[in-house]
Amino acid sequence: MSAMIERAGGAAVRIPAAKILIDGDWHDSADGRMIAVYDPATEEKIAEIVAASATDVDRAVQAAHRTFESSAWQNMRPLDRGHLLEKLALLIERDADDLARLETLDNGKPFAVSRNVDMKFAIDALRYYGGWSSKMAGEYIQLSPIADDGGTYRAYTERKPVGVVGGITPWNFPLGQAIQKMAPAIAFGCTVVLKPSEEASLTTLRLGELVLEAGFPEGTVNIVTGYGHEAGQALVDHPLVRKIAFTGSTATGQKILAASAQTMKRVTLELGGKSPAIVLADADLNLAIPGAANAIFPNSGQVCTAGSRLLIDASIYHEVVQGVTEIARDLKLGSGFDPSVQLGPLVSSRQLERVSALVAQGIDEGAEPLCGGGRAADTGYFYQPTVLSGGRGGMRIAQEEVFGPVVLAMAIQDPQDIKSLANDTAFGLGASIWTQDINKAHLLAAQLDCGTVWINTHNVLDLAMPFGGTKLSGLGREFGTEVIHAYTEPRAVCMRLETTAFG
Ligand code: NAD
Repeated sequence: MSAMIERAGGAAVRIPAAKILIDGDWHDSADGRMIAVYDPATEEKIAEIVAASATDVDRAVQAAHRTFESSAWQNMRPLDRGHLLEKLALLIERDADDLARLETLDNGKPFAVSRNVDMKFAIDALRYYGGWSSKMAGEYIQLSPIADDGGTYRAYTERKPVGVVGGITPWNFPLGQAIQKMAPAIAFGCTVVLKPSEEASLTTLRLGELVLEAGFPEGTVNIVTGYGHEAGQALVDHPLVRKIAFTGSTATGQKILAASAQTMKRVTLELGGKSPAIVLADADLNLAIPGAANAIFPNSGQVCTAGSRLLIDASIYHEVVQGVTEIARDLKLGSGFDPSVQLGPLVSSRQLERVSALVAQGIDEGAEPLCGGGRAADTGYFYQPTVLSGGRGGMRIAQEEVFGPVVLAMAIQDPQDIKSLANDTAFGLGASIWTQDINKAHLLAAQLDCGTVWINTHNVLDLAMPFGGTKLSGLGREFGTEVIHAYTEPRAVCMRLETTAFG
């Protein structure tokens, strides 16, 4: 069933079968429609995936619901759910090289990134959430009843899993995102239907193979590939899905939030960003310049927290912009299978068009390209690392998420303006502050309207730290203790004790 694709350096990549995973078994779709999959580095068609319909999604949700209601799943010991996640972590560790090659083929990112970032995150996340499975607890509450009926009232809460979770994921960290949704769902006793991005579904399908090998009970993890407006929408509309865990664009997040109102679904939305990297006059530029470059260029800028706005004190503006530009010029683009390559292609022709259009408009609106600014090769969706200088808040490129290797530099003329410049977008995902003055760092951090502030670093995500955004960057938090609330709900149990029981 599975095909092999050969790539440079002797890499042979196994393509998973074009099926969907429902109730512990691989299936064709009801109507046989497929989606072609392209290698973003060569534009060559490498595979097909199923274009699941609402009928397929319904079968997957019904299976997840049956399993959720089953006494076998309800009664599984929390420690044993954690053990399942640990088994899966071990299998991903075993197959990490193969999975990383598949991620590189499908998404384009360099193999070293797939292997050392994406796979490592996936394994860590399984272990982190696996550990939570046995740590859920409610609380005991003393009550003050209004009725004086001679009884004594007590209450306790227990945290109950929400039910079937729909996990809808994007293409920038495909396997990591799938596990980010699936692992907490399983840890807390939910069941899940995953809908990966149609742009990069292959590692999520391989995840399905490993879920079966690890011995997850049938129906706990189901995977439907397909288009967002069809398979994704069917998941959002399904009455038996009790929660949607979504990462992707703000526009889709808004549709999901609106549609979820019909069935009053719980939602967590991890959406776009326009995060500033703020370099103050006293910053150590040996750290800040490479730090600012590293905030935007890795993963070809396809990172929701990317430091896509570079706000620099006017006194050091030219030095910083020059330094970041030199780094950008030296970055090597190419096939993710070439070990010397630092940046792969963008994920799709659609993304290449989007990035190209936003940069072109930025230049029209007065931004000055210091390097890059265009497509990097005739074949493959490569875009040059780009530094735009002279940014102003009103430009479209200062407001919209580009999701490419493109940074817009803006000068800070007066330190009093930093707060308003930094917060001047509809997003609020992350920000970094580069300074040697710890007072300024903390005082400024408190003024930034976003979910994460980094000081003298950027893009450090940790499973123990809550992650999410304010404003149009989303709703709710993943990671850390916050994640318990995202996948469980409290149930209060209230009792009346007869005060006279002991005379
Ligand atoms: P998208 O939001 O359209 O897709 C993300 C996921 O949502 C995919 O699985 C998609 O199939 C699904 N989806 C799409 N429409 C849906 C619907 N109506 N109902 C349910 N699910 C639906 O994002 P995209 O088109 O792949 O990328 C567009 C832009 O989104 C990018 O340029 C970037 O700015 C942003 N983005 C952000 C992130 C992030 O991590 N925050 C990730 C990917 C893309």
